[in-house]
Amino acid sequence: MKQYIMALDQGTTSSRTIIFDGDGTAVGTAQQEFTQYYPNPGWVEHDAMEIWQSQLTVAREAVEKAGIEASQIAAIGITNQRETTIVWNRHTGEPVYKAIVWQCRRTAEMVDDFDEEFSRYIKKTTGLVPDAYFSASKVKWILDNVAGAREMAQAGDLLFGTVDTWLIWNLTGGRVFVTDYTNASRTMMFDIHKRCWDHHILEVLDIPECMLPKVCPSSFVYGETDEKIFGAPVKIAGAAGDQQAALFGQCCFEPGDVKNTYGTGCFLLMNTGRRAVESNHGLVTTIAASCSDDVEYALEGSVFVAGASIQWLRDSMKMIDSAPASEALARQVEDTDGVYIVPAFTGLGAPYWNPYARGLVVGLTRGSENTHFVRATLESIAYQTYDVLKAMEKDMGMCLKSLKVDGGAAANRLLMQFQADILRTDVLKPEYLETTALGAAYLAGLAVGYWQSKEEIRTNWKLRTTYHPQMDKELAEHKLKGWARAVKCALMWAQEE
Ligand code: ADP
Repeated sequence: MKQYIMALDQGTTSSRTIIFDGDGTAVGTAQQEFTQYYPNPGWVEHDAMEIWQSQLTVAREAVEKAGIEASQIAAIGITNQRETTIVWNRHTGEPVYKAIVWQCRRTAEMVDDFDEEFSRYIKKTTGLVPDAYFSASKVKWILDNVAGAREMAQAGDLLFGTVDTWLIWNLTGGRVFVTDYTNASRTMMFDIHKRCWDHHILEVLDIPECMLPKVCPSSFVYGETDEKIFGAPVKIAGAAGDQQAALFGQCCFEPGDVKNTYGTGCFLLMNTGRRAVESNHGLVTTIAASCSDDVEYALEGSVFVAGASIQWLRDSMKMIDSAPASEALARQVEDTDGVYIVPAFTGLGAPYWNPYARGLVVGLTRGSENTHFVRATLESIAYQTYDVLKAMEKDMGMCLKSLKVDGGAAANRLLMQFQADILRTDVLKPEYLETTALGAAYLAGLAVGYWQSKEEIRTNWKLRTTYHPQMDKELAEHKLKGWARAVKCALMWAQEE
């Protein structure tokens, strides 16, 4: 009987399952959205039970759609929204509070209050810039605010997990309590150099270590599913946070390999091999999906508003009917005629890290039209990507070889060509763009010998399009100078109020 790999892709807005064959071709897919809770301004929560139930439903549905038996699933790989925090009772399996989602800002003040020494310690140890995004302050918030939670945690009755841990625990009927290095590296409690939970951080935040999962490689047989789930036990053999899974799914296995996912925001990750490179340019250091305890590292930078600016053109500016329509409109003009848009709607992320930046449009003249406006918005996605990539190059002391791309907005050919033009580097788009799920499948498949090696996997990566730089170098530099001036205007705007 032919064998397959199942990828559970647990995202921020939906749970998805994709079943892959040996070529990396999807043979069955199912997806289900779940509820987003916004109980207070800036707060975001999910129902952990709904995450689990929706993931289970789509897993069973995908098996049915693929027309296969559980015994044909060689292994399951999991990829998940990162940093989202779940605390549950180990005896009943009941969460003590809703899942606090990575986007949730409720602990921003708590993190602002960390003294300088502790912040420096966190950066050095965890590779992260202290922020409310990461799990640590969310766990502390639950222990501080849910009645009796800290006492129960100290008594060993509560467990903490990111979504991978929660799914594995439920899939195994509560028998296996683990996470992988990539997810651990986003908790802000994990020493990425020594590869263990950091006692000092746990002590300062008053988080008992007994509630933390065991940390294992991303490609590793963690356990088997409870027989009741699929009718036969299936090995769970891969786990990685979504961006690290995408880096793996793009076959960025060598130091210097980079991928950019153009979604709502942009997520750029560069493989840095066995070196944990500390950034001097506003990036974070994180653990990449690796097949052993000898982990590899990555530099990561995110752009907050990328594809979201195209949604803004559609929904708020009413300049386009659909996101893909941005391309035809932008093509009506040769350039933006000196117009720049900086979509710093919620401040600027890497490499600027300025919460006081706000969006702006500059360079308008009497001749400016909607076409220029749309084109300038698309170009802003490429400029922001450029800024992060230059920061990566500086940290690594090297030049980018090429950029692999995926995500919804990578479908925009004008954007991809412009990206190649200003980077002066080839932009490579693969045939198959669901690289996150594919990465999780690869990790699981490697652990059980479904695929023998990374080299074998690499042959699955099929190029769809290469965008070569075409723009004159001087012109590209001229445009980049204009962008840098526009960003300068956007920075600190709100602080001067
Ligand atoms: P996410 O996973 O963050 O929801 P996706 O990878 O599904 O994002 O991509 C969706 C984003 O890409 C949306 O913000 C949308 O505006 C943008 N997008 C989709 N198609 C295009 C296109 N052809 N041109 C520009 N932007 C696009």
